[in-house]
Amino acid sequence: LIPPVILAPEYLLPDSDPANLCRDQAVLVNGGIIQAIGSRDDLKTREPDAIVRDLPGALLLAGFVNAHQHGRGLSQIQLGYADDFLEAWIAGRKARGVLDAYAITKLVAARMVANGVTTAIHANYSYGSGDYETEVRQSVRAYLDIGMRVSMSIGILDRGQTVYPPHDACFCAGLPSDLNDWLARSPTAYMPDVAATIDLLHRLRHDYRDEPRVTFAYGPAGPQWVKEDSWRAIAEDAAAHGLGLHLHALESSAQRDAVAELYPQGVFAALKEFGALTPRTVIAHGVWMTPRDCAEVAAAGATVVRNPGSNLRLRSGIAPLADMLAAGVRVAVGTDNTACDDTEDLLGELRMAGLLARSPEWNGPPPPSTRDLLAMLTENGAVAAGFAGASGRIEVGAPADLVALDLTHVRAPYLDRDTPLLDAVIARGRGADVALTMVGGDIVHDHGTLVHGALPEIEAAAAASALAARLPRDPASIGRTGRFRAELVTHYQTCGAATAKTPPE
Ligand SMILES: [Zn+2]
Repeated sequence: LIPPVILAPEYLLPDSDPANLCRDQAVLVNGGIIQAIGSRDDLKTREPDAIVRDLPGALLLAGFVNAHQHGRGLSQIQLGYADDFLEAWIAGRKARGVLDAYAITKLVAARMVANGVTTAIHANYSYGSGDYETEVRQSVRAYLDIGMRVSMSIGILDRGQTVYPPHDACFCAGLPSDLNDWLARSPTAYMPDVAATIDLLHRLRHDYRDEPRVTFAYGPAGPQWVKEDSWRAIAEDAAAHGLGLHLHALESSAQRDAVAELYPQGVFAALKEFGALTPRTVIAHGVWMTPRDCAEVAAAGATVVRNPGSNLRLRSGIAPLADMLAAGVRVAVGTDNTACDDTEDLLGELRMAGLLARSPEWNGPPPPSTRDLLAMLTENGAVAAGFAGASGRIEVGAPADLVALDLTHVRAPYLDRDTPLLDAVIARGRGADVALTMVGGDIVHDHGTLVHGALPEIEAAAAASALAARLPRDPASIGRTGRFRAELVTHYQTCGAATAKTPPE
């Protein structure tokens, strides 16, 4: 049992409203919960047995939520294949072996807590072993071993594994037969069908019913990757049990073009028809959202997750964050494990998202405010992750998911008093400034030290796994991947040329 702790920072920000920033207020944490907020001395009188953690020169704020990532603790750059268009990049994985889900997830969890992330959404992802359930259980164990909270999305992908529909059949018909045979032989990424997916999700919910740091959601990969009947089936089960749906949508120009053909009524109108656009729905990327899309998503109360570094690196584009905010969309932020500087620095990604939303037009939409950005980092991500009671705020009765950010780098050597402190945090703060990360009352990262685990061992295990997975099980997959990718690139270039001739309205 963890004894009561008083965290006593210089500044406390209880929610994302800069007007509520206060000085010399401390937080009493007991039983994993925020029990009281008050002066350090009052709290000590109230709870004399509490351990006092003085955090001079630090800002205490709600834990950060990485609202879209996949448990990839080593980036593709580290694994030996370059950034490219999303679709070509995904195809490149076929030339590699299977990474150890536990080792790789544990490394990313360790890096996230070092950057102040207390909760992650683990989007649909398959490490490619062919045993999806074991992969999910290993990943969950890795997050828990580090001490993080995780919302685990159970993946579904039942069409468009080669290229996106409606042109996938035509594409495959033009492939050499050995490539078609090879593609048909690749192991199923997720569960074999929707019924098995629903079974797995409920089995996991049952097995982890006593673990408050884990929740499960459906992870339909995206509108062009999931059949209509499957959408309806999971949306119905999600509604019956109040579960989240976490999907990718309108990430790349190729996805934009595919869904324009598949859903002439609009992709969000279609998801709504399927019962899949609700306040429990979380849409990663939304790079190509139109003003109409923004209005539909806002009206549904769904969340969009901005992933700026990933979208730049994978040539997806720049999401219209300012338009989303102007339309009233709830927006969160994620690294997608492809952050702009190849770290898990969520503060850096947040800053990039804010900068890319600064319209050069004098009459353009206003840039995101510091309040908008802080909400993306904390409260909005907490809604997206769907933990009951975890509000992304520092309030009495809420789980104690807290981050202390050391302000030395933000303020040194000089910060004029005319600059609001939180504007400076957004402009200058880095994940490396995180002094302490607490999840549910448990300190998981403390002044550069990972509390539950030894980072060098975790890194060594991930590196060993990467080395072992350098080559695919069948060495012929390397050559086939190269040929398949070339066909895929030609296909999307041809589709793109057709779209360029008839620009969508
Ligand atoms: Zn993603």
